[in-house]
Amino acid sequence: MIAVLKGGTTAAQKENLIKWLSAQGLTVHVSEGAYKTVLGLVGDTSKIDMDLLAGLEIVDQVTRISEPFKSANRKFHPDDTVVTAKDAKIGGGNFGLIAGPCSVESEEQICTIAAAVKAAGATFLRGGAFKPRTSPYDFQGMGAEGIELLLKAKAATGLPIVTEIMSISHLDLFADVDVIQVGARNMQNFELLKQLGKCDKPILLKRGMSATLKEMLMSAEYIMAGGNEQVILCERGIRSFDPYTRNVLDLAAVPLLKELSHLPVVVDPSHATGAARLVRPMALAAAASGADGLMIEVHNDPMHALCDGAQSVTPDQFAEIAKAVATVRTAL
Ligand code: PEP
Ligand code: MN
Repeated sequence: MIAVLKGGTTAAQKENLIKWLSAQGLTVHVSEGAYKTVLGLVGDTSKIDMDLLAGLEIVDQVTRISEPFKSANRKFHPDDTVVTAKDAKIGGGNFGLIAGPCSVESEEQICTIAAAVKAAGATFLRGGAFKPRTSPYDFQGMGAEGIELLLKAKAATGLPIVTEIMSISHLDLFADVDVIQVGARNMQNFELLKQLGKCDKPILLKRGMSATLKEMLMSAEYIMAGGNEQVILCERGIRSFDPYTRNVLDLAAVPLLKELSHLPVVVDPSHATGAARLVRPMALAAAASGADGLMIEVHNDPMHALCDGAQSVTPDQFAEIAKAVATVRTAL
């Protein structure tokens, strides 16, 4: 349930109302906007007399909401959430450009790519150290050593780093990682989400291959319910029947998620299409759809990449895409 308070409500009046609501067993999330205060009431609201609440002098409007996601819900939190990592921000008008290889392969590889994407305007460096591969016989990532190499690239460029966690037992290795990614395959690993809810780092949550938007928001809710409100949602395509593309990019998810939630939404056109030549048009479309950022796989030698070479663009191609994306954003 949400209660919108009238402009001009005093702090003492607000406090009294919050005390009364809390005494009825509800958790009250307060969101102070420029003109109005919104109270998000979480818990068993069935015993609340809506008419009584709506009739109070300081209450403008009361709405029962049916969405089960409360913390992620825009109705409770009308202003965009801005996720911050080092000097970079995503959301609330800040566009995040996350770029780098699918997997960290060597110091030279990650440092070369990091320098190139930074020069092209990337605001975050990505790179997988722990890789969720379909086959156990494929390259599984460099693990702890991969994170060490990402940290070297971070020290050299100043770029905050984004890398995927596959098991909570690895969390200690992520101490200097700026943004922890939860991959599509782990979007509903609820124990992992609960543990990440207790950590103080931003989480980039990728949409599961067959997850509905509601399921994705409920996964964000798992993280937020633990106290970690720094969540970035990532649309990376969903599985469908047409093998021409690796996945089907659901671009309508961008405006929809932004309508439903205050969390920033980024798009990954690389995993969504599986084809380097499709990354540019889909990156531009994502920017036009109102995304708060992009995650793009970039490799200095895609032909010899240990993972996802077919969908990786070169640093030069990335630089051109970054310029075109900036043009689209200016046009908006
Ligand atoms: C990735 O970003 O490297 C990745 C494995 O993506 P996804 O979880 O979307 O498949
Ligand atoms: Mn990949």
